[in-house]
Amino acid sequence: MTTVDQIDFKNKKAIIRVDFNVPLNEENRVTDPTRILAAKPTIDAVLAQGGSCILMSHLGRPKGITPGLSLGHIVKTVEEILGVSVLFAQDSIGESAQALAAQLKPGEVLLLENLRFHEEETKGDSTFAKELANLADIYINDAFGTAHRAHASTTIIAQFFPDRKVVGKLLEQEIEAIDKVLQTGEKPVLAILGGSKVSSKITIIENILDKIDHLIIGGGMAYTFVKAKGGSVGNSICEDDYLDFTLELMEKAKAKNVQIHLPVDVIATTDFSNDSERKTMDINEIPNGWEGLDAGHKSLENFKQVVLEAKTILWNGPLGVFEFSNFANGTIELGTFIAESTAKGAFSLVGGGDSVAAVKQFGFDHKVSYVSTGGGAMLESLEGKTLPGIAALKE
Ligand code: AMP
Repeated sequence: MTTVDQIDFKNKKAIIRVDFNVPLNEENRVTDPTRILAAKPTIDAVLAQGGSCILMSHLGRPKGITPGLSLGHIVKTVEEILGVSVLFAQDSIGESAQALAAQLKPGEVLLLENLRFHEEETKGDSTFAKELANLADIYINDAFGTAHRAHASTTIIAQFFPDRKVVGKLLEQEIEAIDKVLQTGEKPVLAILGGSKVSSKITIIENILDKIDHLIIGGGMAYTFVKAKGGSVGNSICEDDYLDFTLELMEKAKAKNVQIHLPVDVIATTDFSNDSERKTMDINEIPNGWEGLDAGHKSLENFKQVVLEAKTILWNGPLGVFEFSNFANGTIELGTFIAESTAKGAFSLVGGGDSVAAVKQFGFDHKVSYVSTGGGAMLESLEGKTLPGIAALKE
């Protein structure tokens, strides 16, 4: 793949697929600019070389033109972050976009209106992709968050730039981080999987089993394993349809010399709420009427050893119901262990949905090696799938 640093952008217009799908509050202000900040290095590199940038993104899931989801709302924030003024095209294609793109001078930035105001975007329509392509000389994909979608701006457009399609710096970092865990990671390699269900992580577990040395299973997922091994999990979340699968998985892991670490004790409660009665108990002996919502101290001591010895760590999914402060301790402690291991030299990647929310909420995002910006894209990468957005840059 061609990288940003291999291209001369002088007097060239680069159309960059960014992921500016940021949260807005009721006043249409950006509440978390992480994704805009993440795209800055690529944009800065193009501008510094005397190129200009045409930024395109989606925002939310509009059905047709939806004023509340206009990218016009984020122009000010983008300007503040980039430190340059940003032109805005009221439509991503058509005369307004063409006129503004044609007049764009080196060092200038143009933001196009929400791509998904046209249904052709998600349909992967090639006429729409060509219209976008006609606006620029070079295509850069820097939107990891949508790299698992074969949309017009993420995948189809690349064919119109056979020798001028470029992987953005953020996308490159994301690919590198996944490779560091699954391909080139220093041993011992540890994966920590938590969250609510085994069923949603089956393909991930199957894919990573050949690549890891240790697997910590936590959160709601653990109870299906515990029950499959003969334990009593009371009212804890458990997928009875997957008991056989987890038994087979434990056999496979044994054959591949992967050590599986399950919690041994849990903090259980009688009601799925923050303030209900809490008791620490053996994970194999949870009585009916009680459900485990967090890892207990003994489990955390065991996990700590494994995390501190690991040289490569992947974390996906919380160890408990971290949204309830009384059941967040396991997830917070795990974050502390990973931070400590990272400070000692381990490479740590946090990716996929709720674990990213947890590391941010508890302030570990700067204490791990890399926090992925893509939920679904990260999960599909961990499943071993080739993401269409990345494949299109290689073809
Ligand atoms: P996932 O999207 O599969 O990563 O799951 C994340 C969700 O799992 C979070 O909202 C947690 O509250 C939930 N979770 C974690 N541990 C448990 C548990 N022991 N019981 C029920 N839900 C849990």
